[in-house]
Amino acid sequence: MELKNFTEDKNIIEEVAKGSIAEELEIEPGDILLSINDISVKDIIDYKYLVSDDYVVVSIEKKCGDIWEFEIEKDFDEDLGLVFTNPLIDKAKSCRNKCIFCFIDQLPPNMRETLYFKDDDSRLSFLQGNFITLTNMSDEEIDRIIRYRLSPINVSVHTTNPELRIKMLNNKNAGRIYEILKRFKDANLEVNCQIVLVPGVNDGKELERTLEDLSKLYPTVESVAVVPIGITKYREKLQKVEPYNKESANELLDFIFNKQNYFLKELGTRFVFASDEFFAMTHTELPKSNDYEGFPQLENGVGLMKSFEDEILTELKKIKTPINNNKRYILATGTLAYDFIVKMKDKILEKIHGIELTVIPIVNRFFGETITVAGLVTGQDLVAQLSSYDNIDGIIIPRSMMKRDEEIFLDNLTIEDVSKALNIPVISSEVEGKSLIDIIKN
Ligand code: SF4
Repeated sequence: MELKNFTEDKNIIEEVAKGSIAEELEIEPGDILLSINDISVKDIIDYKYLVSDDYVVVSIEKKCGDIWEFEIEKDFDEDLGLVFTNPLIDKAKSCRNKCIFCFIDQLPPNMRETLYFKDDDSRLSFLQGNFITLTNMSDEEIDRIIRYRLSPINVSVHTTNPELRIKMLNNKNAGRIYEILKRFKDANLEVNCQIVLVPGVNDGKELERTLEDLSKLYPTVESVAVVPIGITKYREKLQKVEPYNKESANELLDFIFNKQNYFLKELGTRFVFASDEFFAMTHTELPKSNDYEGFPQLENGVGLMKSFEDEILTELKKIKTPINNNKRYILATGTLAYDFIVKMKDKILEKIHGIELTVIPIVNRFFGETITVAGLVTGQDLVAQLSSYDNIDGIIIPRSMMKRDEEIFLDNLTIEDVSKALNIPVISSEVEGKSLIDIIKN
C-alpha cells in the first residue's frame, strides 16, 4: 500500500465539510485542532473515538493564534466535518520484523520509495483493513485498542507456536501473539487472521496446532485465511524457502477441506479458508459462494474469483437477448488466473456475439515467473508481451495491476505509457463483474 504525507505533527485542518457543524462554527482550513474534551488528539483513532459523543468540548487554534473553545451538542455519531492534512495525524508505524516470507524484502532495487515502507500499524488495520503482526505494540497500545474497541482488526498470525513465530518473524517480541488475542477475546473484539504458509515451516502439524488454538478464540477470531508464500527472483541473500507446487497445494486443500468439515461440526462455521491461489494452482473447482460464508476475507484474495464469477453471471443474466459488438479485445491477466478468465470469456461470448476476446496470461519477468497473480503484473511486461498484437481495439487489464489511487503500474509506467508503446488503448476494469461487462458491452 502507498503512504504519504506523514510529516506533520500538528492536527492541521485541511477541509471543512459543507453544511457541517465545523462550518457553522466558522472553523476554517488552516486552523489547528488542539483537543477534544481536554484530551489532546494523537491520531485519527483518538479523533473518531472522542467525537463519538452527544456533547463534546472542542478546542481550536485559529490561524491568527487565537484559541477558540466550543461546547457542542450533537447526535452521538454525527461527525464534526473536519478533514486533516495528514490522514493519520502522526506518522504511520513501521514494522520491526524481518519475516522470512516478506515480499518487501524481495523487491528489486530502484522501485518507488513508498513501496519499501513496511507498515505495521493498528490504525491502518482498523481504517483500511491492513494486516498487522502486533509485535511493535506496547501494553498501553493494546489497552487502547481494547478501550476504543478498534474492531474488526486484521492480524497476521502465521503460527501460534511462540518459538516458531519468533523465528519466522525474526522478532523476539513475536511470541506473545496468543496472549494478546486472548485479551481481545476477553474484550469481545472481532479479529480476522491470516496465515502466510511456508511449506515445511508452518504447515502440517504446526498449521494443525495454530488452527486448533485460534478456533478456541472463536467467535472473536471470526475467520482464518491461509495464503501461500510469494517468492520473487530477488531473494538470493534471504533464507531459502520453497514455493507451493501443484502437489503440495493439493495436499493443503485436502487438509483445509477436512478442517472445514471438522469446524462446521464443532463451531457451526468453516472458520478457515484457503486463498484463491491454491484453487487456481491445482485447477480445483471453486467452492460454492455460500461456502465462503459472506466472504469475510475477500481483500485477502479468499473467494475473489468466486465473487467475480457471481457478478459476471449476474450481469450476463440481465442481457435478455444476445447483443452484438464487433470489437477485438485482449484480456490481460497473470498466469495464475488464465484458466479462470478463459472460463469467464466463454460465458461472456454466450451473450455478447461478434466480439473477439483473447485472454493473454502475462508471464511475470519483472519479479520472476514464480509470481503469477495479476495484481503484480507490470507495465513493461505488458508492453514486451503484447507488442506483436495489432488490429486490437483495446487491452483490458484489472485495476488491481495499478496503484490504489493512480493509474500507475508497480514499475512506474503509467497506463498512457503502455497504451502509447503498444499503440492500443489500455482500459482498466475494476475487479468486479459489472465493470468488465460494461467495458465489453461498449
Ligand atoms: S510484518 Fe513481516 S511481512 Fe509484513 S512488512 Fe514487516 S517484515 Fe514484511
